[in-house]
Amino acid sequence: MMTRLAQLRRQAPKDTMSQHDTVPERTVWEALSLGLRHYKFGLLVALVAAWSGAIVAVYAAGIGAVLGGGAVLGAAAQGLVPSAGGPYGVGIGNGITIIGVVVGALVGAVTAFTAVFGGSIVLAPQALLAELLAGALIAVTLTAILYRGERLLLTSRGYRRMAWEEWERIAPLAASAAQALGLWAGPLPHIFVVDTLDAHAWTEMRAIVITRGLLDLLDDDELRAVMAHELYHWSVGHSVGQRLLWACALPLVPLQALALWLGRSREGVVALIGWCLFWPVNLTVRAVVAPLFARYSRSYEFQTDAKVAACGPAYRDGLRGALTKVAILEAPRTGWEATLTRAHPPTALRLERLISPEEEARRAARVRGGSPPHDTAGAP
Ligand SMILES: [Zn+2]
Repeated sequence: MMTRLAQLRRQAPKDTMSQHDTVPERTVWEALSLGLRHYKFGLLVALVAAWSGAIVAVYAAGIGAVLGGGAVLGAAAQGLVPSAGGPYGVGIGNGITIIGVVVGALVGAVTAFTAVFGGSIVLAPQALLAELLAGALIAVTLTAILYRGERLLLTSRGYRRMAWEEWERIAPLAASAAQALGLWAGPLPHIFVVDTLDAHAWTEMRAIVITRGLLDLLDDDELRAVMAHELYHWSVGHSVGQRLLWACALPLVPLQALALWLGRSREGVVALIGWCLFWPVNLTVRAVVAPLFARYSRSYEFQTDAKVAACGPAYRDGLRGALTKVAILEAPRTGWEATLTRAHPPTALRLERLISPEEEARRAARVRGGSPPHDTAGAP
């Protein structure tokens, strides 16, 4: 059988085009339909957070909180709320005042948020629906455009095709990983290399990217397991889903970047102005979008590791080896990604799951023997 690997190797890399065009590709529609299967509720929440004017309602909630809390504090100062020794005194009355202020702030925040957000839903439901539909349409169109132009985009970032020696090492490893995952018959992603000493690998919508540092650090078994991990991410469209989520939250992305930039300013006044202007954006991204993203992405990461482990002991041990050497395999590349992936599964917990059946049996025996792994009472 003339394997596709042999075909690939015969047409080996003279330039980016010949290297990439030897492999059949997914169409943009196939990729989008795969991507839309992930982060479902997350996509909807991102759309609502970014396109519905929810940020204005969060602003209103902040003002409501200050007014509500201030009103209670004012009432306490005038003696209208029980407070032994006034608001600045000490004692039970002071405790009641503090609770009163917190409750007042909460009531103010909820009232203001409901009035603004609920008001827009009740008064102009069609406008809200139109905003969300427009947001969804823009998100899908933009993702499709970025998908088509991805190779150009990656090349413009300095990502390059594999050099001959790299190709000779990586292509057979990627091919056996694709075979082990049952992907060999179908379309496959491009492989790009980045010349940086950091050791990372990640999946774009149409490509897998590996750094020079990773190639130098890992042995072949580890590299093959990492290729299997990234190939699985690519095959189920996790990266397309992630791009769609970014596109759904699009109006928030530049605002959040600006907030991060201003927040890092050494000028206290600039940082304060940035905070005052953008706290609702930061709050919405950090408290709503990011935790939702994390909930999905954690399970996707564990699921991907499990698929690699299911390819056989060599893959499982290879991935363990790679994760032991590289603390963060898929590092965030933008402030947006950094905020979203803050709750990525810690490597220690991923390693915990990538154990051999013998190790699993040993752990079970330890638990039966009255010394469960989480019991640290007897630990030295
Ligand atoms: Zn991953």
